[in-house]
Amino acid sequence: MFDRLDQAGRSRLMALIRSRDTAPEMRVRRLLFSLGYRYRTHARDLPGRPDIVFRRRRRVVFVHGCFWHAHACGRAGRPRVRRNWWAAKFARNRARDRRDLAALRALAWRALVVWECETRDAGALAARLVRFLGAPRFVDARP
Ligand SMILES: [Zn+2]
Repeated sequence: MFDRLDQAGRSRLMALIRSRDTAPEMRVRRLLFSLGYRYRTHARDLPGRPDIVFRRRRRVVFVHGCFWHAHACGRAGRPRVRRNWWAAKFARNRARDRRDLAALRALAWRALVVWECETRDAGALAARLVRFLGAPRFVDARP
C-alpha cells in the first residue's frame, strides 16, 4: 500500500489516521466497561497521556498500535520507502514510550501496555486486564 503512494498521498493518508479513540482502543474500553470497570480516558496530567486511567487504583492502560509503536509482532507492515526516515520515527516513538513508562513508575503509577494485535482475543485480554487491575469493585448504578 505504501509503495503506491507518493509523498503527498501518504501525508494525506497519515492525516486521516487518528491517534486516539482508535478501533483497538475502543475494543479495550468496551471490554473493560462490560467487565464492570469505570475509567477516564486520555489523562493530560500524566506522562504519555495514557489512553485509559484508573485513578483510584493508580493504574493506567496504554493501547499501542503495532505500526506506530513498531511492535515486533510483524503484523503491521513496514513502509518500503524512505526507510531511514521511518526507522528514525519508530525509534523516536519507542524511546518516548519508554520514557513515559519510566516517568509513570517514578510517580508510583503502574502501567499496562496492550498491543493492537493482542486485542483480538477478548478472553485472554479480559484475564490479563483483571490480573492487572484487580476485580472491579464499584458497581455503577447509573443507567
Ligand atoms: Zn503487534
